[in-house]
Amino acid sequence: MAGVSAKSDGPMSKTRQELLQQQIRAIKNELGENDDDEDDVVSLEKKMQEAAMPPNVWKHAQRELRRLRKMQPQQPGYGTSRTYLELLAELPWKIASEEHEVDLAAAKVRLDSEHYGLSKVKKRIIEYLAVRKLKPDARGPVLCFVGPPGVGKTSLASSIAGALGRRFIRISLGGVKDEADIRGHRRTYIGSMPGRLIDGIKRVGVNNPVMLLDEIDKTGTDVRGDLASALLEVLDPEQNKTFNDHYLNVPFDVSKVVFLATANRMQSMPAPLLDRMEIIELPGYTCEEKLRIAVLHLIPRVLEQHGITNEHISIPEATVELIIQRYTREAGVRNLGRHLAALARAAAVKVAEKEQSVRLSREMQTEMIYHGAQGLGAAAAEADMEEEAMGIREKEIIPLATKPDPLLVDEVVLDTVLGCLQITVHGNEQGICNFFVLCSHQNLMAEKQQRELPRLALL
Ligand code: ADP
Repeated sequence: MAGVSAKSDGPMSKTRQELLQQQIRAIKNELGENDDDEDDVVSLEKKMQEAAMPPNVWKHAQRELRRLRKMQPQQPGYGTSRTYLELLAELPWKIASEEHEVDLAAAKVRLDSEHYGLSKVKKRIIEYLAVRKLKPDARGPVLCFVGPPGVGKTSLASSIAGALGRRFIRISLGGVKDEADIRGHRRTYIGSMPGRLIDGIKRVGVNNPVMLLDEIDKTGTDVRGDLASALLEVLDPEQNKTFNDHYLNVPFDVSKVVFLATANRMQSMPAPLLDRMEIIELPGYTCEEKLRIAVLHLIPRVLEQHGITNEHISIPEATVELIIQRYTREAGVRNLGRHLAALARAAAVKVAEKEQSVRLSREMQTEMIYHGAQGLGAAAAEADMEEEAMGIREKEIIPLATKPDPLLVDEVVLDTVLGCLQITVHGNEQGICNFFVLCSHQNLMAEKQQRELPRLALL
């Protein structure tokens, strides 16, 4: 050190400066502190500044950053501290979806164009939107759509988000038993993480999304804490301004989030939670309603998703009725949608195969013309080839490429694609039922995946 200070009085020679820098680099490398880590921390700090955290959170983050700076990257705790600061920097403290006035007429058109029937439910949603329009910070009840799977609960919620012009995020609560799933684990735990709510907010990237708490009835109470009370805190307008996630350890304002919920059954929901919500029931559809939903919504959507059109497949209403009656036994339309998708896939294979064969035959014919032309004299060949090629293209190739007939889905096609199902139930001595399923191979595979039948025998 004495040497360095003695020399620093005068101008330092360039070689000496380089030498010292080399030594610094070597020492840092030996200590495991390379410049990359330093750069990383600097960029993290920049990201934190850009996040525009509230002053109290910023103070807390600064303290954590100072701790991180003093740590070596190999030190235990460095990784967790960094991940924590990354989360603080990524949370949308100030970022919000731009709020514009709700256009009720447009919302009505949207709801009607995306959902068949459900007039009462749509009316209630329009009322809800009207109240939000007049009083954007209204603390109305949380709408909870209750009904069997596939009746349109999630898609209604997503339409509400669209009408409000906000981003939409769905948080699945099915099977959540631990309170920490909502509120997060404290950072002292190994592998601790933020709860689903904060994680959802980080993923959606705005602090005022429409958040759907899916399957809220499938949560429960156990030794690890009462989940309903954590949810109540989330939904309570008095408390959710300062929602405290155990991992985050600083309050986050979730009061601008529009909460919606779905449940399959009302009976299994805790009373205080039920009290906080307005239940909107969607009991299920009749066969006629399912048919209309399929024709007006599901089939066009499925065709679009599979890159085919009405020119490639034709599904008559009678076939849809057959699918509803024979192949689905549900209140909603989820399985109906799945079966329609299976038909669309079958048509897609047919279309793709046909396209390939047309392309192949076109290539083969061009080759034939070419080889034919080669056999002729050099001078005549070029002219003949062109002439012949033109002639053949008009007469033979074009008819091959003409519009194919659409795949008409009738009962036979249904049986081949979805399989024909016949179940006979036999009782044996132990009183256990054996299911003998008479079905095609495809259907057997599909059935195996869908249900776990006690015993299957292919006859
Ligand atoms: P849930 O959340 O109730 O389980 P989804 O919202 O996921 O059901 O709906 C399943 C599918 O059925 C979606 O593709 C949805 O658009 C469609 N669907 C359900 N009900 C209707 C309806 N009334 N009109 C049009 N499509 C519907």
